[in-house]
Amino acid sequence: MKEEKSQEKKLNLSRRSFVKLGAVSAVAGAGAVAGLPAQAETTSDRELPGKMPQTQLPVKVDSHVYKRFHQQDTAFCQAATGRFPEGRQAFSQLGATTQEVGLRQIDKALTDAGWYVDKLIANNASIMSPDTLAYRWDNDADVADSAYAFSSKEEATHHIKKAARFLGADLVGITPYDERWTYASIFKPELKKSVEPELPFTPKSVIVLGYEMDYEAMATAPSGVSGGAVGKGYSQMAITGASLRNFINNLGYRAFASGNDVALSVPYGVAAGLGEAARNGILVTYEYGPRVRIGKVFTELDLSYNKPVTFGVRHFCESCMRCADACPGNAISKTKKPSFDIHNECNNPGVEKWAVDAKKCLLGWGKTQSDCATCITSCPYSKPDFWHHRLVDKVNKLMPGPVHSVMREMDKLFGYGNSFDRKSVTKFWKS
Ligand code: SF4
Ligand code: SF4
Repeated sequence: MKEEKSQEKKLNLSRRSFVKLGAVSAVAGAGAVAGLPAQAETTSDRELPGKMPQTQLPVKVDSHVYKRFHQQDTAFCQAATGRFPEGRQAFSQLGATTQEVGLRQIDKALTDAGWYVDKLIANNASIMSPDTLAYRWDNDADVADSAYAFSSKEEATHHIKKAARFLGADLVGITPYDERWTYASIFKPELKKSVEPELPFTPKSVIVLGYEMDYEAMATAPSGVSGGAVGKGYSQMAITGASLRNFINNLGYRAFASGNDVALSVPYGVAAGLGEAARNGILVTYEYGPRVRIGKVFTELDLSYNKPVTFGVRHFCESCMRCADACPGNAISKTKKPSFDIHNECNNPGVEKWAVDAKKCLLGWGKTQSDCATCITSCPYSKPDFWHHRLVDKVNKLMPGPVHSVMREMDKLFGYGNSFDRKSVTKFWKS
């Protein structure tokens, strides 16, 4: 039922888009409306030794090169633990207020308010600190004695997705657990060292949850207001993740929630059919583009799985580069095609992508004295009614490069994707 509603919503969007397309079809050289996201063609990953099933992704993974990622190697963890002193310095500038619109006390107060619940119940899990509070692993005291008897896997899946949306998720996809994306080691601040993750059980399924970040607030990036939208995404992630875990526990099954603290989110988002991995290093979803935060709930429940989808994002990225041009840290790749090249230990090797230089990114945060997010705001897929880019999928089959370049310029003409736009901050507070 939910899937049907979602399909219906997408069809309605396409119908609305069709009306608006008249204006652009002549320029784009195509009168067709792009349809629903297609199921992606998956590349056959070479098998990794290991006991867990591996999902087929529409992204090449070279198993001879791929290594599981160590959480302590994220730029943020390195900054917090002092391994990256310039990053630590950048972090220390984030709380500062100035007289500049977007960085005033009122703007930064919104950043803090957005992050407040995350700090209370997730203990900085956006950077490290797995297995605490909302994201604790221990299920012993919580699992109901009797297991609820679903009549089928499909029925279980429907109820889990329904509950996830009811509890606050905007997007839900489910994929098998894939050990490749679990950190090889996790950082325990209380021990001041990394340890191998010993999960409380071997999960069967991963419920991948997307949380929309407010468009008007994100349009102000980089600012304290967009920082509030980012923080609110993390706070909601902790609330919904913990609540969904509780729901599953009360059905008699084990589960635990996580933010960025246990495993990589983008590959799980791709595997669960939520979107595509784009040039900006972020998951670009069909509904909200990159304007989402991703959380995960791991469970022993056996569920029906979504498949990866494609709606032309990676192809469009080849000609677009708006995020790379706008990035204040010069951290985003400008090569046309994705590759296996990486910058440093902040990137895991063996995945074909546009690797973002996470250290430069963090320094960009310092420059803007905010959570930045310019690469989200500048992306044409960010805007709510993404009408002319619904053409992208069809155009890809016709003459992608030149048409994508025209579309990128049109996006600017329509006034979308501006960053460092202080008027948008005033507009946010006045609306
Ligand atoms: S968050 Fe800002 S600095 Fe980092 S990659 Fe995105 S645009 Fe660049
Ligand atoms: S701004 Fe353009 S290049 Fe960057 S992620 Fe979005 S579509 Fe891709």
